[in-house]
Amino acid sequence: MNLQNGFLMYELAKRLFKIPRSITGNGVRDTLSILKETCPLLKIYEIPTGTKVFDWEIPKEWNIRDAWIKDPDGKKIIDFKENNLHVMGYSLPIHGKIGLDKLLDHIYTLPENPGWIPYVTSYYKERWGFCMSELQKRSLQAREYEVFIDSEFKDGSLTYGEIIIPGEASPEKEIFLSTYVCHPQMANHELSGPCVAIYLAKWLQARQNRYTYRIAFVPETIGSIAYLSRNIEKMKERVEAGFVITCAGDTKTYSYLESPYANTLADRAARNILKHHASGYKTYSFLERGSDERQYCSAGVRLPVCSVMRSKYGEYPEYHTSADDLSLISAEGLEGSFELYSKILLALENNHKYKGKCACEPQLGKRGLYPTLSMAGSAFAVRDMMNFIAYADGENDLIAISDITGVSVEKLTEIAEQLVKSELLMYA
Ligand SMILES: [Zn+2]
Repeated sequence: MNLQNGFLMYELAKRLFKIPRSITGNGVRDTLSILKETCPLLKIYEIPTGTKVFDWEIPKEWNIRDAWIKDPDGKKIIDFKENNLHVMGYSLPIHGKIGLDKLLDHIYTLPENPGWIPYVTSYYKERWGFCMSELQKRSLQAREYEVFIDSEFKDGSLTYGEIIIPGEASPEKEIFLSTYVCHPQMANHELSGPCVAIYLAKWLQARQNRYTYRIAFVPETIGSIAYLSRNIEKMKERVEAGFVITCAGDTKTYSYLESPYANTLADRAARNILKHHASGYKTYSFLERGSDERQYCSAGVRLPVCSVMRSKYGEYPEYHTSADDLSLISAEGLEGSFELYSKILLALENNHKYKGKCACEPQLGKRGLYPTLSMAGSAFAVRDMMNFIAYADGENDLIAISDITGVSVEKLTEIAEQLVKSELLMYA
């Protein structure tokens, strides 16, 4: 494994870690403008507060500058600048003195993991709150505390990013990648997604691609709904396969979340590559969905989208807590996801249908394709070639033939090129 991209992705995650992101606001803008440094094709869009997006409405923009709790001696015992998970997302502004009884109504902890701060938001109900570890809460005394949240709600906008990399052979057909930029200070379940996605964009930009690539960086849920509301018609016509990139940074077993019927081109490509390169991966059905595939695969949208992850959201203990920090992800974990996704995309790029040019088995010997010397492995090479030819009937694509024969798409791509060059196969 060449870890060069892995280290760069990890450095990028470090840089983005402390930006206080939410579903709207400057945290999203700052994050996108840093991502743009890696792939300048990234365009940033704003949708104004109040805009109807399907059944939803773009909320007021929320920004936060500072927040703390001081004890009666004036000592800060909770400081947003130390960890931005300390403030409940979308908290109302507040400044005042408050007794412990009342303060406790506004405090959220995680008693089962007493050292961790939970991630809590209140997007659609107006309230304020602080999040802290259970241990910090237990150390509070029956005294008066000063609370301060310097936040602001205003008519502003929701921000998202988009990269379009035009394809050459089939520019009207698209592969769609989506990731989200809306969680504060968390690493696997937030930053691993945009870091892998932006490096995939950079890699795709440097290649000649068959497909056009559409890559969205959106706040989860409201952002993907808003994105679809602007692009759904075009996407329904064009998107051949898509992936939600999230939870891509640890080194644990890979996870695959199916589309509703697990039968799209995206599912087939993901399963094929996982089988050959990530043995032992876990499969989750669409019933266990949780990220933006909820929108992309909903009944009225039904884009061919699935998701390949490492530890899936909701399935690891650090999820949505302060323990999902930079120690949970690594260059190796990010690189693994990057390489797996690039293999999936290459499988799609090379996924043609082929048709044999002659009836019956062709004579390989006269074309120099049959080894005249019998060596270990040569019989297998011939068998792979003959199997490919046997299934190249114009109906099966490369991924289907790989699934039937058990030979990897990478190897079949080489065989296909050789057979096309020898004029035994043609593109169907
Ligand atoms: Zn989340």
